[in-house]
Amino acid sequence: MRFRPVRTWLSWWVAAFLVCLGPGLHAVDTTRINGIDYVPLAEIGGSLGMDVQWLKSGERLRLKSEWTTMDFTVHRRDFTLNGTTLNLGWPIGTKGGQLYLSEVDYEKTLQPVLTPQVFDHVPKLYRIVIDPGHGGKDPGAQNRGLKVAEKTVVLDVAKRLKANLEKLGYKVSLTRDDDRYLELTDRSAVANRARADLFISLHFNATGSSSVSGLETYVFTAENMPSSSRGKLLGSDRRDYDGNENDTWNMLVGYYVQRELVDQTHADDRGVKRARFTVLRDLQMPGILIEGGFVTSSSEGPKIGSASYRQKLADAIADGVVTYQRTLNRLRGRG
Ligand SMILES: [Zn+2]
Repeated sequence: MRFRPVRTWLSWWVAAFLVCLGPGLHAVDTTRINGIDYVPLAEIGGSLGMDVQWLKSGERLRLKSEWTTMDFTVHRRDFTLNGTTLNLGWPIGTKGGQLYLSEVDYEKTLQPVLTPQVFDHVPKLYRIVIDPGHGGKDPGAQNRGLKVAEKTVVLDVAKRLKANLEKLGYKVSLTRDDDRYLELTDRSAVANRARADLFISLHFNATGSSSVSGLETYVFTAENMPSSSRGKLLGSDRRDYDGNENDTWNMLVGYYVQRELVDQTHADDRGVKRARFTVLRDLQMPGILIEGGFVTSSSEGPKIGSASYRQKLADAIADGVVTYQRTLNRLRGRG
């Protein structure tokens, strides 16, 4: 099922049962490329009943079904799913003229969004903790010319998002509801104590160049996968943390939120990314961290400074949560 040799009759039956439950891969051999286990994208497409089309022979491959189009490019560390960018742990590999996806990306990036029905322990969704980043002595990212401070605008988006989600019937709380400093570990502790079902940390970005803009949604890095900012495994990547318990659901909600944010704001899509952020590391529930744009961008900074754009961000995030809820309901209704 997950490319591991089936060692006992019992696990064979478990594998056969899972294959019956949903589209999955079986009898697909892994191939080592640069020391990493990879699986052929053409076989993944075939097992999912998708058409396999070369957009450029040996370089760009499309997997397509009625509802889903995925485009992969050799050596790139991302791909698009119905136009939304998902960053990968490892680049798309090539061997013998075929393109390959790493096994860990198949399990941790592709399956959660394409075939979440193959995973157990579908979470419920009622209590949501929203975490406006920074606060108090820590202003976060700043654009002094525009008088925009990250700690202020994230709190505003958090309050708007809380109101949206409460209207939908969720029980929502904030890690801070005023201009107060909180340690990173206190933020996840608040969510764990509240027995939240979802944690959403809100941030804005900054960089030296005013031409850099765009949205990112982060999930906690999976075990044995490098974070998006690095190309190699660190010692800390070989461990699994509490935050890894929900790798599947982190990815699923991250994808839906990123998709809605980009669709509704038309901001640059920097994709769903992975990082070992302290604020996500100890979570006992699914969680994401949103970088809602660059306050330093000449195009995005003024928008972030406007209340109507911040409302648009809150609306998009709430819509992403609703889509995630619908999928959880569908998965739970399955059995
Ligand atoms: Zn921040």
